[in-house]
Amino acid sequence: MPEFIHARDVDAGTLLFQEGDRGDDAFIIEEGLIEISIQSEGERKLIAALGPGEIFGEMALIANTPRSASALARERTRLLVVRRGRLTKPIENADPVMRLMIQMIVERLTDASRSLTGTNEMVPQAMQEARRQAFEEVRDIALRRVQIERELRRAVEAPQFELHYQPIIAMADNTIAGYEALMRWNDPQKGQVSPGNFIGLAEETGMIVEMGRWALQKALADHAAMVPVWQRCWPGQPTPFVSINVSSGQLIEPGEIARLSAIIQDSGVSPDQIKLEVTESLMIHDPEAAVDALNELKGLGVSIAIDDFGTGYSSLSYLHRFPIDTLKVDQSFVFNMLNDTTSGRLVRSILHMADDLGLTTVAEGIETQEHFDQLRDSGCTLGQGFLMARPWPRFDIEALLETGCSW
Ligand code: C2E
Ligand code: CA
Ligand code: CA
Repeated sequence: MPEFIHARDVDAGTLLFQEGDRGDDAFIIEEGLIEISIQSEGERKLIAALGPGEIFGEMALIANTPRSASALARERTRLLVVRRGRLTKPIENADPVMRLMIQMIVERLTDASRSLTGTNEMVPQAMQEARRQAFEEVRDIALRRVQIERELRRAVEAPQFELHYQPIIAMADNTIAGYEALMRWNDPQKGQVSPGNFIGLAEETGMIVEMGRWALQKALADHAAMVPVWQRCWPGQPTPFVSINVSSGQLIEPGEIARLSAIIQDSGVSPDQIKLEVTESLMIHDPEAAVDALNELKGLGVSIAIDDFGTGYSSLSYLHRFPIDTLKVDQSFVFNMLNDTTSGRLVRSILHMADDLGLTTVAEGIETQEHFDQLRDSGCTLGQGFLMARPWPRFDIEALLETGCSW
């Protein structure tokens, strides 16, 4: 693992880099004085004199171009050297549109310093070519992203999305306790696209906010239509709940919780029949924001489930800080439970801890009777998986409700 930041002392007169060099490091001045200059009309022109706290050499790294100026220590200077990866990794991981903007700002700054000293025509051909290539690469990614965003927006407006519902079963008596709404995209060109192929993109582009709103509204409307079928067929049986996925991106969007609340209130569905599934990510990255967001939702009377529990490396011990009702044990633990003793032990300890905290548990991805039996015997309350049912369109679920209330 390379060290990303280290200190370096240089003597007066040390040339740190010059025009055309490959840029591998950026520098922060701790003590001393650095002169930045460029060659213009046969002479060196000083463009900046930098002192403690200032950063230099970062532009070539960000724009991925050769150095466009020289840096010379005027006196003995202490520098913090920031390796390329420390600066470029977060930029590479950033949203492509943001990257394009960072790159354009850097290019404009570089051009501005050149036009100040009248050296624009002196930029070597190779340097201009490298800049053009880097720029086009980022622009292509950004354009593709914008295109996907447009496709998703059209899909929301059409709508080309659909919700399927997967029954969730009470393990003790095999009755249908609820169902989870899962999104499907019927793309006219690509056919049915599974959420694994578009939810991540929707989250990256921010489109998940609108898609999540649509899903909540649609799931509640479908649920309102399914409840009378259930009540007619199974009078006296507790009404099933509807579980809806809510992404962290929705919870941190300003004003969004109020919009989701309005959708819930307008639906007429009793909040005690609504469960919202959130993943651990917000709780890990911004626990304060997560507590506020979840409290606001809880205030409506809905219940909250933590989805994919165990994959986000959150510690069980801080779960009590969050107003949650249900843990959904991630399917990877269920898949591995029978042939891997660690997964089995982990599942059992999650179930015990949840029980101590008064939380309901749902095991996901139950594919075999062995999974089912072992989970039920370990005290898991609810189960979901292909053994019992796949996600189906609403009309198939209604047909199922009519034929039986148990599994
Ligand atoms: P998830 O919330 O963990 O949903 C459960 C996934 O496991 C579903 O995949 C379901 O079809 C699948 N599954 C259920 N039982 C079994 C089983 O026994 N074996 C196997 N192999 N798989 C099983 P799906 O429908 O492809 O959804 C994938 C993910 O996409 C969901 O995972 C969820 O994270 C996301 N997603 C789906 N719909 C929405 C939505 O409306 N909003 C948001 N934010 N995310 C959604
Ligand atoms: Ca889920
Ligand atoms: Ca899950």
